[in-house]
Amino acid sequence: AREKLQSLAEVPAITRDGMNLKLAANISSLKELEAALENGAQGVGLFRTEFLYMDRNHFPSEEEQYEVYRKVAEKLHGKPLIIRTLDIGGDKQLDYYEMPAEENPFLGFRAIRFSLERKDLFKIQLRAILRAAVYGDVKIMYPLITSVDEIREANQVLAEAERELREEGLPYKSGIPTGVMIEVPAAVAIADLLAEEVSFFSIGTNDLVQFTLAVDRMNEQISHLYEPYHPAILRMLRTVAAAAKSKGISVSVCGELAGDMAALPIWLGLGIQELSLSAQSILPVKECLLRTKASDSRKLVDELFRCSTAQQIRELTESFLADSA
Ligand code: PEP
Ligand code: MG
Repeated sequence: AREKLQSLAEVPAITRDGMNLKLAANISSLKELEAALENGAQGVGLFRTEFLYMDRNHFPSEEEQYEVYRKVAEKLHGKPLIIRTLDIGGDKQLDYYEMPAEENPFLGFRAIRFSLERKDLFKIQLRAILRAAVYGDVKIMYPLITSVDEIREANQVLAEAERELREEGLPYKSGIPTGVMIEVPAAVAIADLLAEEVSFFSIGTNDLVQFTLAVDRMNEQISHLYEPYHPAILRMLRTVAAAAKSKGISVSVCGELAGDMAALPIWLGLGIQELSLSAQSILPVKECLLRTKASDSRKLVDELFRCSTAQQIRELTESFLADSA
């Protein structure tokens, strides 16, 4: 069965009725990239850069970051690479940087908030990305965006980084596409406004489920309430997909839910064009995709929107999965 699955690595990711769903990988290191490519990843939809900052005892220099980003870009041979800027804070801490003690770290000083407070460090990362972008199809993604202002402020730092590189005469790629993670309910509610500012969305279901349902994703006591198939989540996904479509930007899903087979018809039915998955989820999801029809998925999604409980939604998606097996 393993070999059979592996033989799908080179097979196009397409439904029985001819709809493409791009399957990219989530990675946090060069090593994970190898595994992703072996499994036929069509690019990297989420490069989590935190680990570059966590695996050492100081902030990585521009050169150190540039080396890693460039190697990843080169190994992709022109396949797209979305580098997410630092998402530190929350559950991810740095040994060498004292973060303020917080009552609610996931709601606190993290991700883009940290970067906009420490623009010196942010600019170093952006410079490294712009320089590495010469070697591939690189895009930049900002995490935990909650407002248009944050995007504009981040883009100002990006423009400054470009200006510096130009003045210093260092090779870099200008005008690379920027996108945002959609992982906070506020971002969903203003998805149409955010779409005016960026080239792509990537839905981070891990945080989006946590914030929408007010369920700490790390708290085992309430883990039974962490329910990605909650009707509220389905509505949010629909809102984001519709906003992206009407503004003509692309939308992908990069949270854990993307690797869940039962969720596959939801993406197809909502018109999501791309998933970004952990390396080991790519082939099982592709195998399932090859057996699925987009037209049936759309019908299923219509039914899902008539459900009032997560249990009903789960039952329908699971029986759909079983029927297409
Ligand atoms: C997410 O929130 O879904 C996501 C992909 O980001 P992370 O898991 O790194 O917070
Ligand atoms: Mg997140």
